[in-house]
Amino acid sequence: MRRPLIAGNWKMNLNRAQSVALAREIAAGLNGSLSADVAVFPPAVYLDAVIAADTGLAVGAQDVNENADGAFTGEISCQMLCDLNVTTVILGHSERRNLLGETSEQVQRKTLAALRAGLTPIVCVGELLEQRQAGQTDQVVLEQCRTSLAGLSAEQMLQTVVAYEPVWAIGTGQVATPAQAEEVHASIRQWLSKSFSPATAAQVRILYGGSVKADNAAELLSQANIDGALVGGASLKAESFLGIIRATETQKVA
Ligand code: PEP
Repeated sequence: MRRPLIAGNWKMNLNRAQSVALAREIAAGLNGSLSADVAVFPPAVYLDAVIAADTGLAVGAQDVNENADGAFTGEISCQMLCDLNVTTVILGHSERRNLLGETSEQVQRKTLAALRAGLTPIVCVGELLEQRQAGQTDQVVLEQCRTSLAGLSAEQMLQTVVAYEPVWAIGTGQVATPAQAEEVHASIRQWLSKSFSPATAAQVRILYGGSVKADNAAELLSQANIDGALVGGASLKAESFLGIIRATETQKVA
């Protein structure tokens, strides 16, 4: 049984007061709704403020360093996140891969570090537009999965969430069609089945991300292998984020 997860990545937006207010507004709008797990990912410097607001939402970080401690100026360790009561972390977001040169090998080290610290990693994969146009989507995405998730035990895989985010759909308003998204999600699940086991694959949540909005969420979430959404722009306003969460109310529980 895969419970939907709706995750809001606030990226480098909002100030401290706005972050706390948005978390409060989302929690109030949820009104105890149990149709999905909901997590928000504020900028790192506001994690403590959002957690202190005690809204009941899961609060996650947008990245973490794979090292335990040491001379890594500006970086944040898993233990530091745990000290703040952070429970989850986004890893390998395409903005980090493509703007900051983060590799799947680094993502793998971060994933293992997060798991060892008891954090839930949300590992992002996704192809560029030119890779899709060249018919390389599966090859690219499965290679990112193979490398980013290398060395995980089946048990660790069960603690991990995968997010398929086609790069051409992020922040562009150009959402993948439900069929395009489902095709890749099904490939990822098949890969999980072969690499771990059918039982493991059946339980791992695979989120879709890329221009998800309240008005396209229901159709995406109705696909058999789409278990939730990683949301950027539409997570910055309570009403649009709540609209996406509400779209899970009518969905299957696989
Ligand atoms: C994202 O950055 O992970 C994302 C999916 O952004 P948006 O929803 O704005 O496309």
